[in-house]
Amino acid sequence: MSQPSALIRRCPICRKPRVAEHAPFCSTRCRDRDLVNWLEEGYTLPGPVVDPEGDPEAGDFGN
Ligand SMILES: [Zn+2]
Repeated sequence: MSQPSALIRRCPICRKPRVAEHAPFCSTRCRDRDLVNWLEEGYTLPGPVVDPEGDPEAGDFGN
């Protein structure tokens, strides 16, 4: 039951061997993640970009 690794289709998200049920991904989690990535690209809106690291000026209150 061994397969050459080259023939194993891997999940494009996490590189684990994919599961036929969730092909071409290994799980619903990775499938959803790919979908989110796709949607985020599709829904790129013009306007101010929110910095995910936060506003650097907001971190100075502790001083
Ligand atoms: Zn995966």
